[in-house]
Amino acid sequence: MPPRECTLLFVVGTAVWLLLRATTNWSEDSNWVYMPHLLVDLYVVGLLVCLLPKRWRPWALAVIYIIMYACAIGESFIYQRYYMHFTPQTLTMIRETTPAESEGFVRLCLESPVFWRTLMWWGLLLLGHMLLLVGRWVLKKFESPRVREFGSSKIMPWVARGVAALTLVSLIWWVPARIEVARFLMLERTEQAERVDNGIFYSTPWRVVYSLKYEQLTVREVGRLAANMQQLDAVPTDSGVPNIVLVIGESHNKHHSAVYGYSLPTTPWQSEMERQGLMVKMTDAVTPWNVTSSVFKEMMSTHSCDQPGQWTDGVLFPALMRKAGYRVGFLSNQFYKTNRQTAANYNGSFFLNSQPFDSLCFDYRNRKHYVYDIGLLREMPGAQDTCSFVILHLLGQHQPYDERLTKQGHIFSAKDVKRKDLSAGERKVVADYDNATRENDRVLKAVYERYRDHEAVIIYVADHGEEVYDGNIGMFGRNHMAEPTPQIMWAEFEVPLEFFLTPVVEKRRPWIGRALREAQAKPFGTDDLAHLVLRLGGVKTRYYDSERDLLSPHFSPRPRPVKGGVATYEEIMARDKEKGVRRR
Ligand SMILES: [Zn+2]
Repeated sequence: MPPRECTLLFVVGTAVWLLLRATTNWSEDSNWVYMPHLLVDLYVVGLLVCLLPKRWRPWALAVIYIIMYACAIGESFIYQRYYMHFTPQTLTMIRETTPAESEGFVRLCLESPVFWRTLMWWGLLLLGHMLLLVGRWVLKKFESPRVREFGSSKIMPWVARGVAALTLVSLIWWVPARIEVARFLMLERTEQAERVDNGIFYSTPWRVVYSLKYEQLTVREVGRLAANMQQLDAVPTDSGVPNIVLVIGESHNKHHSAVYGYSLPTTPWQSEMERQGLMVKMTDAVTPWNVTSSVFKEMMSTHSCDQPGQWTDGVLFPALMRKAGYRVGFLSNQFYKTNRQTAANYNGSFFLNSQPFDSLCFDYRNRKHYVYDIGLLREMPGAQDTCSFVILHLLGQHQPYDERLTKQGHIFSAKDVKRKDLSAGERKVVADYDNATRENDRVLKAVYERYRDHEAVIIYVADHGEEVYDGNIGMFGRNHMAEPTPQIMWAEFEVPLEFFLTPVVEKRRPWIGRALREAQAKPFGTDDLAHLVLRLGGVKTRYYDSERDLLSPHFSPRPRPVKGGVATYEEIMARDKEKGVRRR
């Protein structure tokens, strides 16, 4: 048990943490979830203080209090002003802030009533702390022998035992969390860092640790990418399609699409377009990851997963499109280009948000998010005189599925899902997912309508799939086991890839439809998508590789590594054939 002078550390440490939680909304979990971590962390700090000679302890404690208050007060003000917790981006912002900007920050703070309210709360806490210190000093000085005897013989041992017991029990949660932190500190790549549970960084000092490590990783990765993008070579030819739209869906299990053989009519518009010969679907497209941010890196980079090196060894292909004269837009219903980020949703967009990539790649971005993807279309400019390339990034079928449904979106119900092996609740989840897939169909239709009378190609691809209680996996969402099974490949890595052609483009460039139909059954990795888009855009660049372009007669199928190369899709599916597994 740490000495008595550390008792106050427990009280103040807990109060500081609770006040920080109250002034920011870091997580929706109850405070009790994090209490065991806080208790043991404070205990460890107390123990470290006792290792010091007695006369140094008050000074050590003073330093600890100063750091504690500075971290917490700092973070609560960053939150009041920017709706942002301590994240890797906070570090970048602090570093990039000019003196004029910090003056502005101070002025805005002073004008804000929230600032004064927050200041008042922290002031009250500090005052309470001072009173406790003074009270303790007074007690010590004027303590009567009876009080001293009472304190040392009756209460204190029991308090000490109570705290020790609580600390001991808390180790059950604390030890695994700190092992997780140790593992995190040894990681080599951002995509691994993004998958770490944020709960282990439950307080400001831990979030600082997270941010420093994360920044170290991104700086390394992005630095290489930035060097590659110094000199982009891309020139337009006159063969480019004037309007190209790349719609990136979310969590789309293609086996729940009627166009890919699902039993319920989840894709009426896509099916109709296919019947009219204006849609061509690829039947063997596979994504390299089941994590959005990792898919984005691989898809946006000209580097592909089967090549040596990493995604940062290529360049971001939207920049090539832009260099070749396309007006490039990135409208995302997921990635924020604002500062309102927590460690969790910092994920994925870091490279698209950071300078100089943002300005190299995009002419415009959306500033707002929409509850339903259909709203995002308001920011889409439609066909223009200049060549236009739009990346539309949807919320798609992201869970919770029922939140994706508009008023008219409740088409299927649990009784439409003919699965005797599922409970009523599980069938409801499947029905909601199927409804969300149908909503997605409406969004695709609306995108197409914008371009119907123009020369346009609309590409639809999902970042990854989703488990929706298929086979015997017994779950919805995604499964992140280290070595994915054939079932996971089928549901989460096989993705829809569809091309919608307008009548004008069909008439003026019949080669596109022809090439697409020829390519329909070819094995394709979506990390090669850049080459196909560059070809559609008629962009001449040394980054283009015709063997990776699905539309090219030189296209050559290659093995498709998944999850950073733990195995290839082909290897995993071959295991399936050995066992003769049936999935539905
Ligand atoms: Zn995703």
